[in-house]
Amino acid sequence: MDSKCFYKLSYGVYIACSRKDSKFNGQIVNTCFQVTSDPPQIAMSINKNNLTHEYITESRVAALSILTEKAPMKIIGTFGFKSGRDIDKFEGINYKIGKLGVPIVLDYTTGFFELQIIKDIDVGSHTLFIGRVVEAQVCSEDEPMTYSFYHNVKKGLSPKNAPTYIKKEENTKEEKMQKYICDVCGYVYDPSQGDPDSNIPPGTAFEDIPAAWVCPVCGAGKDSFSPQS
Ligand code: FE
Repeated sequence: MDSKCFYKLSYGVYIACSRKDSKFNGQIVNTCFQVTSDPPQIAMSINKNNLTHEYITESRVAALSILTEKAPMKIIGTFGFKSGRDIDKFEGINYKIGKLGVPIVLDYTTGFFELQIIKDIDVGSHTLFIGRVVEAQVCSEDEPMTYSFYHNVKKGLSPKNAPTYIKKEENTKEEKMQKYICDVCGYVYDPSQGDPDSNIPPGTAFEDIPAAWVCPVCGAGKDSFSPQS
């Protein structure tokens, strides 16, 4: 089996939110899709270990924000790599409370759905929640972020369009530059790509990054990084 084939499947990048009593939580989810149009129903797959899973299971309500290509890694890091058991994910986030009492993230959101959960399908590590759409709203005309955009563009892995001789020179240099992996979230700092979102230009060795720099995904400090073997 070629596991790379799974990367060819197309997804989006969404924030699924729910509530439990007066507490809110949300998380990044990529596996969301419309399953029927009459009535309109959407399915989403949520890991059973996640706090959002617990909230949805109890409250039977959820909201789904569709992130745009403009969404920075920071918001994806907050909702995707941190737990609501440790932090309040909504601090500093622009959101509103919808018809079902669920928080709806509005930052970098091109549209959202509010869902009444009508069915849970146990698929092992995850539950596939089926929700009836009770509200849908378009927020902007910005392009929705696809999972492949997130991997290829946001992580800066898109190929460079450089003249051959420069590319060779860069490659030689890059091969010698050590990559570092974030022990918290698994983000890999690749010196050849730098971290343009944080003004670290391509070609910057990990050692040369300012001490105040933090992981663009989870916010961990430089001391949380280890050389990638
Ligand atoms: Fe990290």
